[in-house]
Amino acid sequence: MRWTRTLIPTLKEDPADAEIISHKLMARAGLIRRLASGAYTYLPLGFRALNKALQIVREEMDKAGAVEILMPAVQPAELWEKTGRIKDYGDTLMHLYDRQERHFVLGPTHEEVVTDLVAREVKSYKQLPINLYQIQTKFRDEIRPRFGVLRTREFLMKDAYSFDADPEGLNKSYQAMYDAYCKIMKRCGLKYIVVEADSGAMGGDISAEFMVPCSAGEALLAICPDCGYAANVERARPAPLPEAEGEMKPLTEKATPGARTIEQVSDFLNAKPKKLVKTIIYTADGEPVAALVRGDYDINEMKLARVLGREVETADAETVEKVSGAPVGFAGPVGLRIRMIVDQSVLSVRNFITGANKLDTHYLNVNVERDFKPTQIADIRFAVEGDKCHECGANFDIRRGIEIGHVFQLGTKYSKKLGAAFLDEHGEKHPAIMGCYGIGVNRIIAAAIEMSNDDKGIIWPLGIAPYQVEVLPLNLDMPQIIETAEKIYAELTQAGVEVLMDDRDESPGVKFNDADLIGLPVRIVVGKKAMEKGGVEIKLRTESKPQLVSPENILEELHKKIEIAGGAGGVS
Ligand SMILES: [Zn+2]
Repeated sequence: MRWTRTLIPTLKEDPADAEIISHKLMARAGLIRRLASGAYTYLPLGFRALNKALQIVREEMDKAGAVEILMPAVQPAELWEKTGRIKDYGDTLMHLYDRQERHFVLGPTHEEVVTDLVAREVKSYKQLPINLYQIQTKFRDEIRPRFGVLRTREFLMKDAYSFDADPEGLNKSYQAMYDAYCKIMKRCGLKYIVVEADSGAMGGDISAEFMVPCSAGEALLAICPDCGYAANVERARPAPLPEAEGEMKPLTEKATPGARTIEQVSDFLNAKPKKLVKTIIYTADGEPVAALVRGDYDINEMKLARVLGREVETADAETVEKVSGAPVGFAGPVGLRIRMIVDQSVLSVRNFITGANKLDTHYLNVNVERDFKPTQIADIRFAVEGDKCHECGANFDIRRGIEIGHVFQLGTKYSKKLGAAFLDEHGEKHPAIMGCYGIGVNRIIAAAIEMSNDDKGIIWPLGIAPYQVEVLPLNLDMPQIIETAEKIYAELTQAGVEVLMDDRDESPGVKFNDADLIGLPVRIVVGKKAMEKGGVEIKLRTESKPQLVSPENILEELHKKIEIAGGAGGVS
């Protein structure tokens, strides 16, 4: 491809709305342009990179035994009503109506559609297992799309759905997808970790997320540097804190006018937040439940929901007043007559401060067991910096990560609701056992750029680079230069190498800057100085100095460089 025949509108300045490096560089290198909030056009370079990632995903899915289909983006709302997810998704779901006022949604995912398909077409155990996948545009009406292509309303997903006759089959299907995802991440040049994920209160238990650790990520991860344990902080289990010892002081009531929050109370009483215990009232299926955690930690509602086996909601002010006898901000465990789930961290404080279930009043010197009896002690908080790994005791590293993929054992949740049942060899009917497996393809591109760049621009991993090589003829007024560049361009193209030639009549400075910005793995410069020494210059994007090579040996030298570039990425 010649630069003058394609569209690569590079920019000198970062777009005003770009907060993260991948967004800035994708705009500046002319990969994307914003159409509306959370909607981007992929320009030729961006589209080529996206297609490279798609091709890798497709190849690995096919190798793993999944078969490709294509389901409609527009789905009947009726299917979403059957599974109840029309409510769960709320405003994230985009609704539309056709001319006959029939109700449709733009699919954010396709469990409903694929399960409905299998319910109609798969009747016998002989047709199982089967894993159907597609690459399709999905829609989510995000409140605040941001971070370029990392969080958009419209995105490309590879989603696969496995159907098995028994749990062993599901395990096999899940493992095949897990292994395929590792290969995909590696081939895309992504340095990744696999973390234990949270599947929500009601979800299946086994799921994992494929994450690229980087500061732009939205997920918070707890990673153990010693034993390799890694989990989303929502899921991560910190090691229990040492239990407090020492003398229990007498329980004392203390006036705390106007002090409700941890900060206000700790300021007023001149006590550190870790000497306080928070009591938060939730409702679970209408039943009020108190959750307690040390004042410097936060309650993790996902964990609380798992302990209770039910979804939880923060109780409204009226409920709080009814169960605690005091306005919001003064609830405490002493004398509270509802179920109390107490985080293990509470056991690490002696003589703590809590609300006294009375306006403008707190208790000092509260102690577990002496002053109140927990219904259950559990892990219901988020892991934070300073927590230790429950497996080996090393300190967790808390890092951000971009979620690229998710593998998930669904079980029979959808097959039961949508009637995807099969007959076994004895003629008995069973719901198919499902797994689902997603990859955000656009995120592969953004994560690769987040991971691999410098102050000059993108450094593409070879596997998803829009082109492998850029040829830069300088001094276009010299016929010998044009001739040599054209010869190299033709020879490499002939050999199946993907080449971009910057044939613009621009200064060497402009061409070099743009070459660094768009960041193709290998650069070949055809210029006056090198020609006088009888050669052309070749270098990797990651190398600082070029190497002088004879134009006759260019293909051989290029293959050496490509081999180095290919070996650079993909370490997990
Ligand atoms: Zn560990």
